[in-house]
Amino acid sequence: MYYGFDVGGTKIEFGAFNEQLERVATERVPTPGDDYEALLQAVADLVAKYDAEFATQGAIGVGIPGIEKADTGEVLTSNVPAAKGRTLRKDLEAKIGRKIQLDNDANCFALSEAWDADLQDQGSVLGLILGTGFGGGFVVEGKVFSGFNHVAGEVGHARLPIDAYFHLGENAPIFDCGCGQKGCIDNYLSGRGFEMLYAAEYGEQLKAIEIIERNAKGDEKAVAFVDKFMELLAICFGNIFTGMDPHVVVLGGGLSNFELIYEELPKRLPKYILSLARAPRIVKAKYGDSGGVRGAAFLNIRG
Ligand SMILES: [Zn+2]
Repeated sequence: MYYGFDVGGTKIEFGAFNEQLERVATERVPTPGDDYEALLQAVADLVAKYDAEFATQGAIGVGIPGIEKADTGEVLTSNVPAAKGRTLRKDLEAKIGRKIQLDNDANCFALSEAWDADLQDQGSVLGLILGTGFGGGFVVEGKVFSGFNHVAGEVGHARLPIDAYFHLGENAPIFDCGCGQKGCIDNYLSGRGFEMLYAAEYGEQLKAIEIIERNAKGDEKAVAFVDKFMELLAICFGNIFTGMDPHVVVLGGGLSNFELIYEELPKRLPKYILSLARAPRIVKAKYGDSGGVRGAAFLNIRG
């Protein structure tokens, strides 16, 4: 049995999965505000409850919106105050008496999709989230590739490539990033970036969905903007794919529902990857909000 915990800012979602990776239990409890002991206890209580229910000791995986520092094990997160700066994995292991896997929610998203029946035979799956921010996770042979510092997959903090500079023109907006840098592609490719770019172009603040609707109706400004955005997406994705060469790319997050992306990227990508390379298949995520808990549980597969 695999137990997954998706620890979010407001709730902790629990899921139990059997050996066939089917979900056999679900429970949600509120995330204790800034009470760390209560957070540890909430996880321990759910483990004890479902161990008793299934008469087993499930393998535990935890997904968090943050990064576990590779050297100290401290969690860097702004969304879960109780866990901020804490050695969450170690403390949970001590409390529950079992080895625990812990990873960030973007890696869990990618892992969840990579273990879908249609993708299990793929050598590598790159999950990219076009949500409020832009980030992702890289799964190689069914396992998350975390890298030296656990920042593999943090593609949003790669900076705009030179092609993007030429494409956007010399008056391109250079957005500041929360990480302290300028020009991180997080601020251009995310749903938020999509809106910020439109506002920079036309001086009008529209929601992403409004831009997409106007584009569908043939609105001249929206059509021109979407064309420009699709090319920017191809440029940035091309750069990422050249470095990582994934077999399949799964898109999640709000903007991944923009169907035009799946038509346009295959046409535009070849210009921006090596001439000998084939562009990876790009598909939409299947598991939506349940990806976090699935991926957390699957951290233990082949573990
Ligand atoms: Zn950044």
